[in-house]
Amino acid sequence: MKIRLAAYLQPDSIVDGEGVRTVLWTQGCPHHCPGCHNPETHDFDGGALIDVDEVISDLKQIKNQDGITLSGGDPVCQADACYEISKAAHEMGLNVWCYTGFTYEAMLLNPKLRKLLEQIDVLVDGKFILEEKSYDLYFRGSRNQRIIDVPESLRQEHVVLIDKYMKDKDYEIRYKKPDYMFI
Ligand code: SF4
Repeated sequence: MKIRLAAYLQPDSIVDGEGVRTVLWTQGCPHHCPGCHNPETHDFDGGALIDVDEVISDLKQIKNQDGITLSGGDPVCQADACYEISKAAHEMGLNVWCYTGFTYEAMLLNPKLRKLLEQIDVLVDGKFILEEKSYDLYFRGSRNQRIIDVPESLRQEHVVLIDKYMKDKDYEIRYKKPDYMFI
């Protein structure tokens, strides 16, 4: 199985979710949100096709990461490949964040996307809406987007938000390394 990527594995990100993360920039997005930061990732024929096994093998070589982040592009457009990579990441002890322009509810309606949700810990959902853009948000670009605890949402059968990240940033709070971080 292959995955179309806009860029290869990018380790050590601290802005694409909680902790230190390796980002997978997928290629292809159907949403075309005005103001998108990554318009070069929209073309479904762009980027490069990479073998999923190669991605997993290279992911194993990257040390001192808390998790992976599926970004793009819209990663859920390549749900099968993202499922395999996310499953492998979990087996390596990494957690999985995923950004998508689709909503959680829309994902539930599609069997492949529903299956992918089972391998995602945190979903940042919804299109980027320029009018809702703010720099005071954690890990999302516009206020309409939600940061969702996926395992808990599946268990409770309704959307469970991660409250601490749905608040505006508090610039007065000094940074303290959370005890769940790997390094
Ligand atoms: S969903 Fe993300 S990548 Fe796709 S157009 Fe919107 S902001 Fe850009």
